[in-house]
Amino acid sequence: MEDNIRHLKFLVDAMLGNLVSWLRILGYDSIYWDGDDEKLLEKASRENRIILTKDRELYIYAKRSGLEAFLINECNVEGMLSEISRNYGLCLDFDPEQTRCPVCNGMLKIDESRSRDRWTCNDCGKHYWIGSHFRNITKTLNEAKEKTQSY
Ligand SMILES: [Zn+2]
Repeated sequence: MEDNIRHLKFLVDAMLGNLVSWLRILGYDSIYWDGDDEKLLEKASRENRIILTKDRELYIYAKRSGLEAFLINECNVEGMLSEISRNYGLCLDFDPEQTRCPVCNGMLKIDESRSRDRWTCNDCGKHYWIGSHFRNITKTLNEAKEKTQSY
C-alpha cells in the first residue's frame, strides 16, 4: 500500500554524516552523494529528490536551477531531523513496516518466521533487529520530536 507520508525522496550531501541512515530508518528513499555537484543536481532533478545540504553555495545554485533544496543549520542528527520535519512534514515515527536499510536504502522486510522485531534487507540481505543496530532509535526520534514541538 502506498504510504503518502513517506512519498518524499532525498539526496543527502555527504557532509551531513549519518543523516542519510536516519532518513532510511524512517522509511524515506534517501541516497548519499559525495561526487561532483553538477551530477548531484542532475540526479536530484531526474529522481525528484529534495537536496539536503549545509553548503550554502550548493543550496543557492540548486535553487537557481529550479530544484528543491533545503539548507541544514543544525549540527546533530536530532536537530536535523527536526528541521526537516518542520519544513517538509517528515514523519518522525518509526514504522516497522516502512523502514529501509540504513546501509543500502533497500526496503526491509519483517522476518515473520522469527519475530516482528527482526528484518532482512530486500536488496543487500543484511539482517537487523531491535537491540543491535536499532537500539537508540526511539531515544533519538523522541529528542527530534521534542525539538520539533518546542518551536
Ligand atoms: Zn541493504
